Amino acid sequence: MHKQKLPHIVIIGGGVIGTSIAYHLAKQDARVTLIEKKDLASGSSGACDGLVFMQSKKPGIHLSLAMESLNRFENLQKELSIDIEFKKIGGMVIIETEGEYRAMKKFTKDQQAIGLDVRLLDPSQALEKEPFLSPDIIGSTFSPLNAQVNPINLTLGFALAAKKNHARVIDHARVLGIRTKNNQVTGVATTKGNFDADIVVNAAGSMAGLVSDMVGISMPVQPRRGQIVVTHAGKPVLSHCLISAKYIAAKYDPSLADKSGQGISMEQADNGNLLLGSTREFVGFNKENTISGIQKIIRQTAAVLPVLENFQVIRTFAGLRPYTPDGLPILGPVRSLNGFFMASGHEGDGIALSPVTGDLMANMLLGRKTHISLDAFSPDRFEKKETRHHG
Ligand SMILES: Cc1cc2nc3c(=O)[nH]c(=O)nc-3n(C[C@H](O)[C@H](O)[C@H](O)COP(=O)(O)OP(=O)(O)OC[C@H]3O[C@@H](n4cnc5c(N)ncnc54)[C@H](O)[C@@H]3O)c2cc1C
Repeated sequence: MHKQKLPHIVIIGGGVIGTSIAYHLAKQDARVTLIEKKDLASGSSGACDGLVFMQSKKPGIHLSLAMESLNRFENLQKELSIDIEFKKIGGMVIIETEGEYRAMKKFTKDQQAIGLDVRLLDPSQALEKEPFLSPDIIGSTFSPLNAQVNPINLTLGFALAAKKNHARVIDHARVLGIRTKNNQVTGVATTKGNFDADIVVNAAGSMAGLVSDMVGISMPVQPRRGQIVVTHAGKPVLSHCLISAKYIAAKYDPSLADKSGQGISMEQADNGNLLLGSTREFVGFNKENTISGIQKIIRQTAAVLPVLENFQVIRTFAGLRPYTPDGLPILGPVRSLNGFFMASGHEGDGIALSPVTGDLMANMLLGRKTHISLDAFSPDRFEKKETRHHG
């Protein structure tokens, strides 16, 4: 088909999700324009860790999606012209209490049942893998499949590859409104002028709720702040990515929620900097670092990795995860407005899920069948029942 006959797809948001969709669309010769209000990766995708973690995903569609995404990273490392620093280094979930152990034992069994290579380790096995861990831990889970990637390079890599395949990528253009006629989107109005569109994709991350509000559609995406502490480049003390069982166990067994803290993550970059995270806070769009948040992170990470005493903090930053009430992203057409699609709400998994999200969304937008059903992620589950009319 001639390119001019294809629908023109405008994507709002130059984070990892918007750029991945743009790349996967452009690869299929689609007509695509991505519009970002600031710099690419200036949102959550530039203020996060880069864990591609399998063990934190609930068995079911979420884990299946993550496993599918993991398989694509190796190809992306070759396909994209920017080094995305993808490394399958393996990862551990650190267990600190008996309650967490019980929850993680069941969680791990369910994950194994759907084919994830993961196992439980006792404290001595865990310390064999990570000798600097506290001997007070109760155990850990381990999977060789967990990986890490550079989230900024990944986002820029998707954008550059999209441009090479003739996508337009426009930064420093804020979308001010979505234009509609007879209940069909017709374009967007931005600070750099109007753009016609047959399809508009809302990939505005934690701001996706504000973007859908522009057409009177309420989507429950909320910013959930995560603060991160960066240490100086020290000697190697970690060879895997680590997260604590607290958050997962509490998600899986709600009776643990009160007793559990917020959960932590730790990774060491190649040059020796440690990234210690992160809080989970609902404070609107506030991206400040707080003394109490930083204290909590340091207290909890040092309890698991006492050698942290020898490290100095050199920097802190915070990002806003796009949270949804059921922990799943919102992907697909919004029924009450033709041509308006959602692609947001990945909360703490957007980097890990970006390759598969981009591919599935691209196929859906081009009217092709997706090999994984996206029904569980449909905006229908949140859309108000009354029919709205636009334009
Ligand atoms: C502390 C922390 C740690 C994390 N760790 C991990 C991890 O280890 N692994 C993982 O997989 N995920 C992690 N995440 C989650 C991950 O960062 C997000 O899920 C992901 O970045 C979301 O990508 P996005 O493209 O949806 O949103 P964003 O990256 O926020 O992109 C949305 C973009 O839309 C733009 N935008 C908004 N409104 C408009 C408008 N009106 N006009 C034009 N542009 C607009 C914004 O400027 C922004 O650039 C973490 C997040 C945080 C905060």
